Amino acid sequence: MATSDDPVDDARRRMDSARRVVVLTGAGISTESGIPDFRGPRGVWTRNPAAEKQSTIQNYLAEPEVRKAAWRSRLDSPAWSAEPNAGHRALVALERRGVLHALVTQNIDELHQRAGSSPAKVVEVHGSMRRVMCWECGRRAPMEEALARVRAGEADPHCLACGGILKSDTISFGQALVPEVIDRALAVAGQADLLLAVGSTLQVYPVASVVPLAKDAGARIVIVNNQPTPMDAIADALLRGPISEVLPALCSA
Ligand SMILES: [Zn+2]
Repeated sequence: MATSDDPVDDARRRMDSARRVVVLTGAGISTESGIPDFRGPRGVWTRNPAAEKQSTIQNYLAEPEVRKAAWRSRLDSPAWSAEPNAGHRALVALERRGVLHALVTQNIDELHQRAGSSPAKVVEVHGSMRRVMCWECGRRAPMEEALARVRAGEADPHCLACGGILKSDTISFGQALVPEVIDRALAVAGQADLLLAVGSTLQVYPVASVVPLAKDAGARIVIVNNQPTPMDAIADALLRGPISEVLPALCSA
Protein backbone atom coordinates (compact mmCIF):
# COMPACT_ATOMS: atom_id res chain seq x y z
CA MET A 1 0.00 0.00 0.00
CA ALA A 2 1.29 3.45 -0.93
CA THR A 3 2.33 5.59 1.94
CA SER A 4 2.13 9.33 2.26
CA ASP A 5 4.03 11.82 4.32
CA ASP A 6 0.83 13.76 4.91
CA PRO A 7 -0.62 12.61 8.25
CA VAL A 8 -4.12 13.77 7.24
CA ASP A 9 -4.02 11.58 4.11
CA ASP A 10 -2.77 8.69 6.18
CA ALA A 11 -5.52 9.12 8.77
CA ARG A 12 -8.12 9.54 6.02
CA ARG A 13 -7.17 6.17 4.53
CA ARG A 14 -7.57 4.57 7.93
CA MET A 15 -10.99 6.22 8.32
CA ASP A 16 -12.07 5.06 4.85
CA SER A 17 -11.25 1.44 5.61
CA ALA A 18 -12.98 1.46 9.02
CA ARG A 19 -16.46 -0.04 9.47
CA ARG A 20 -17.15 0.55 13.16
CA VAL A 21 -15.85 3.92 14.21
CA VAL A 22 -16.18 5.03 17.81
CA VAL A 23 -15.54 8.73 18.34
CA LEU A 24 -14.58 10.27 21.67
CA THR A 25 -14.92 14.04 21.88
CA GLY A 26 -13.72 16.45 24.54
CA ALA A 27 -13.77 20.18 25.16
CA GLY A 28 -11.51 20.98 22.19
CA ILE A 29 -14.29 20.45 19.65
CA SER A 30 -16.57 22.91 21.46
CA THR A 31 -14.01 25.66 22.12
CA GLU A 32 -14.25 26.36 18.38
CA SER A 33 -17.96 27.07 19.01
CA GLY A 34 -17.03 29.59 21.72
CA ILE A 35 -17.55 27.33 24.75
CA PRO A 36 -14.65 27.74 27.19
CA ASP A 37 -12.51 24.76 28.05
CA PHE A 38 -12.07 23.93 31.73
CA ARG A 39 -8.60 22.40 31.87
CA GLY A 40 -6.84 23.85 28.83
CA PRO A 41 -4.25 26.65 28.95
CA ARG A 42 -6.98 29.32 28.81
CA GLY A 43 -9.47 27.20 30.72
CA VAL A 44 -11.91 28.36 33.37
CA TRP A 45 -10.34 26.28 36.13
CA THR A 46 -6.78 27.01 35.05
CA ARG A 47 -7.41 30.72 35.37
CA ASN A 48 -9.67 30.54 38.45
CA PRO A 49 -9.03 27.54 40.70
CA ALA A 50 -11.78 28.77 43.08
CA ALA A 51 -14.33 28.04 40.36
CA GLU A 52 -13.25 24.41 40.42
CA LYS A 53 -13.80 24.24 44.19
CA GLN A 54 -17.29 25.71 43.77
CA SER A 55 -18.04 23.01 41.25
CA THR A 56 -17.77 20.20 43.78
CA ILE A 57 -21.00 18.41 44.59
CA GLN A 58 -20.44 18.61 48.35
CA ASN A 59 -20.22 22.40 48.32
CA TYR A 60 -23.15 22.70 45.94
CA LEU A 61 -25.41 20.59 48.14
CA ALA A 62 -24.29 22.13 51.44
CA GLU A 63 -24.16 25.82 50.64
CA PRO A 64 -27.14 27.83 49.32
CA GLU A 65 -24.77 30.66 48.38
CA VAL A 66 -22.82 28.33 46.11
CA ARG A 67 -26.06 27.26 44.41
CA LYS A 68 -27.22 30.84 43.97
CA ALA A 69 -23.88 31.76 42.41
CA ALA A 70 -24.12 28.70 40.17
CA TRP A 71 -27.60 29.64 38.94
CA ARG A 72 -26.50 33.23 38.28
CA SER A 73 -23.50 32.08 36.26
CA ARG A 74 -25.67 29.58 34.34
CA LEU A 75 -27.90 32.43 33.17
CA ASP A 76 -24.87 34.07 31.55
CA SER A 77 -23.24 30.96 30.11
CA PRO A 78 -21.96 31.49 26.55
CA ALA A 79 -22.95 27.87 25.91
CA TRP A 80 -26.66 28.69 25.46
CA SER A 81 -26.01 30.61 22.26
CA ALA A 82 -23.20 28.38 20.95
CA GLU A 83 -23.74 26.77 17.57
CA PRO A 84 -22.21 23.53 16.28
CA ASN A 85 -19.16 24.00 14.05
CA ALA A 86 -17.76 22.16 11.05
CA GLY A 87 -16.16 19.61 13.39
CA HIS A 88 -19.54 18.59 14.82
CA ARG A 89 -21.05 18.50 11.32
CA ALA A 90 -18.22 16.28 10.05
CA LEU A 91 -19.23 13.66 12.61
CA VAL A 92 -22.81 13.84 11.31
CA ALA A 93 -21.38 13.12 7.85
CA LEU A 94 -19.52 10.14 9.29
CA GLU A 95 -22.78 8.81 10.71
CA ARG A 96 -24.52 9.26 7.33
CA ARG A 97 -21.79 7.16 5.72
CA GLY A 98 -23.00 4.37 8.00
CA VAL A 99 -19.76 3.73 9.85
CA LEU A 100 -20.35 5.56 13.14
CA HIS A 101 -20.85 2.98 15.87
CA ALA A 102 -21.07 5.44 18.77
CA LEU A 103 -20.12 8.98 19.71
CA VAL A 104 -18.86 9.17 23.27
CA THR A 105 -18.57 12.74 24.48
CA GLN A 106 -17.18 14.39 27.58
CA ASN A 107 -19.00 17.55 26.59
CA ILE A 108 -22.23 18.65 28.23
CA ASP A 109 -23.36 21.14 25.58
CA GLU A 110 -25.47 18.85 23.30
CA LEU A 111 -23.80 20.41 20.25
CA HIS A 112 -23.49 16.97 18.63
CA GLN A 113 -27.25 16.46 18.75
CA ARG A 114 -27.84 20.05 17.60
CA ALA A 115 -25.55 19.42 14.63
CA GLY A 116 -27.67 16.40 13.69
CA SER A 117 -26.00 13.41 15.33
CA SER A 118 -28.60 10.82 16.35
CA PRO A 119 -29.27 11.03 20.10
CA ALA A 120 -29.18 7.22 20.18
CA LYS A 121 -25.54 7.29 19.02
CA VAL A 122 -24.39 9.88 21.57
CA VAL A 123 -23.08 8.69 24.94
CA GLU A 124 -22.89 11.69 27.30
CA VAL A 125 -20.51 10.48 29.97
CA HIS A 126 -20.63 13.80 31.85
CA GLY A 127 -24.34 14.46 31.33
CA SER A 128 -26.02 17.49 29.78
CA MET A 129 -26.20 21.10 30.90
CA ARG A 130 -29.50 21.40 29.03
CA ARG A 131 -31.25 19.30 31.66
CA VAL A 132 -31.68 19.63 35.41
CA MET A 133 -32.00 16.75 37.82
CA CYS A 134 -33.42 16.63 41.34
CA TRP A 135 -30.87 15.38 43.85
CA GLU A 136 -33.69 13.87 45.96
CA CYS A 137 -36.11 12.19 43.57
CA GLY A 138 -33.97 12.00 40.41
CA ARG A 139 -36.60 13.76 38.28
CA ARG A 140 -35.14 15.33 35.15
CA ALA A 141 -36.49 18.38 33.36
CA PRO A 142 -35.35 20.89 30.74
CA MET A 143 -32.81 23.38 32.10
CA GLU A 144 -34.74 26.16 30.39
CA GLU A 145 -37.66 25.70 32.80
CA ALA A 146 -35.39 26.18 35.81
CA LEU A 147 -33.63 29.16 34.24
CA ALA A 148 -37.00 30.81 33.61
CA ARG A 149 -37.72 30.50 37.35
CA VAL A 150 -34.33 32.09 38.15
CA ARG A 151 -35.07 34.96 35.77
CA ALA A 152 -38.45 35.35 37.48
CA GLY A 153 -36.74 35.82 40.84
CA GLU A 154 -36.09 32.41 42.42
CA ALA A 155 -32.41 32.53 43.40
CA ASP A 156 -32.20 28.78 44.13
CA PRO A 157 -35.10 26.91 42.50
CA HIS A 158 -35.99 23.55 44.01
CA CYS A 159 -37.76 20.50 42.57
CA LEU A 160 -41.43 21.17 41.84
CA ALA A 161 -42.27 17.54 42.60
CA CYS A 162 -40.52 16.98 45.94
CA GLY A 163 -38.78 20.20 47.00
CA GLY A 164 -35.31 18.68 46.61
CA ILE A 165 -32.19 20.49 45.44
CA LEU A 166 -31.98 20.91 41.68
CA LYS A 167 -28.71 20.77 39.85
CA SER A 168 -27.58 20.69 36.28
CA ASP A 169 -27.75 17.07 35.02
CA THR A 170 -23.98 16.94 34.72
CA ILE A 171 -21.25 15.19 36.65
CA SER A 172 -19.76 17.61 39.20
CA PHE A 173 -16.46 17.08 40.98
CA GLY A 174 -16.99 14.54 43.72
CA GLN A 175 -20.05 13.10 41.98
CA ALA A 176 -20.06 9.52 40.71
CA LEU A 177 -20.46 8.80 37.02
CA VAL A 178 -23.68 7.11 35.97
CA PRO A 179 -22.65 3.42 35.86
CA GLU A 180 -24.84 2.44 32.87
CA VAL A 181 -23.48 5.34 30.84
CA ILE A 182 -19.78 4.73 31.48
CA ASP A 183 -20.33 0.99 31.02
CA ARG A 184 -21.80 1.68 27.59
CA ALA A 185 -18.83 3.91 26.67
CA LEU A 186 -16.37 1.18 27.61
CA ALA A 187 -18.42 -1.49 25.83
CA VAL A 188 -18.62 0.37 22.51
CA ALA A 189 -14.88 1.11 22.66
CA GLY A 190 -14.22 -2.62 22.79
CA GLN A 191 -16.31 -3.09 19.62
CA ALA A 192 -14.59 -0.43 17.50
CA ASP A 193 -12.26 -1.09 14.58
CA LEU A 194 -11.19 2.56 14.74
CA LEU A 195 -11.22 4.90 17.70
CA LEU A 196 -11.11 8.60 16.82
CA ALA A 197 -10.32 10.80 19.84
CA VAL A 198 -10.98 14.49 19.20
CA GLY A 199 -10.20 17.50 21.36
CA SER A 200 -9.73 15.55 24.56
CA THR A 201 -6.69 15.78 26.80
CA LEU A 202 -7.32 12.07 27.56
CA GLN A 203 -6.46 12.66 31.20
CA VAL A 204 -9.88 12.15 32.80
CA TYR A 205 -10.59 8.58 33.87
CA PRO A 206 -12.32 6.23 33.39
CA VAL A 207 -13.35 7.89 30.10
CA ALA A 208 -9.77 8.14 28.82
CA SER A 209 -9.40 4.40 29.18
CA VAL A 210 -11.61 3.88 26.11
CA VAL A 211 -8.45 4.54 24.07
CA PRO A 212 -6.22 1.72 25.41
CA LEU A 213 -9.30 -0.50 25.68
CA ALA A 214 -10.04 -0.05 21.97
CA LYS A 215 -6.36 -0.53 21.11
CA ASP A 216 -6.22 -3.79 23.05
CA ALA A 217 -9.34 -4.96 21.20
CA GLY A 218 -7.57 -4.41 17.88
CA ALA A 219 -8.81 -0.95 16.87
CA ARG A 220 -6.70 1.63 15.08
CA ILE A 221 -6.30 4.83 17.09
CA VAL A 222 -6.51 8.31 15.53
CA ILE A 223 -5.99 11.27 17.87
CA VAL A 224 -6.82 14.85 16.90
CA ASN A 225 -5.75 17.31 19.57
CA ASN A 226 -3.74 20.48 19.73
CA GLN A 227 -1.67 19.43 22.73
CA PRO A 228 0.14 16.15 23.36
CA THR A 229 -1.90 13.53 25.24
CA PRO A 230 -0.76 10.62 27.42
CA MET A 231 -2.15 8.29 24.71
CA ASP A 232 -0.07 9.64 21.81
CA ALA A 233 2.36 6.73 22.06
CA ILE A 234 -0.35 4.20 21.15
CA ALA A 235 -1.88 6.30 18.34
CA ASP A 236 -1.64 5.06 14.75
CA ALA A 237 -2.18 8.62 13.54
CA LEU A 238 -1.72 11.87 15.42
CA LEU A 239 -3.10 15.13 14.03
CA ARG A 240 -2.81 18.71 15.23
CA GLY A 241 -4.56 21.73 13.74
CA PRO A 242 -8.04 23.22 14.07
CA ILE A 243 -10.63 20.49 14.65
CA SER A 244 -13.13 22.31 12.45
CA GLU A 245 -10.69 21.87 9.56
CA VAL A 246 -9.19 18.47 10.35
CA LEU A 247 -12.46 16.57 10.94
CA PRO A 248 -14.09 17.51 7.62
CA ALA A 249 -10.91 16.29 5.90
CA LEU A 250 -11.17 12.98 7.75
CA CYS A 251 -14.92 12.34 7.72
CA SER A 252 -16.56 13.90 4.67
CA ALA A 253 -18.18 11.66 2.07
ZN1 LIG B 1 -37.50 15.98 43.34
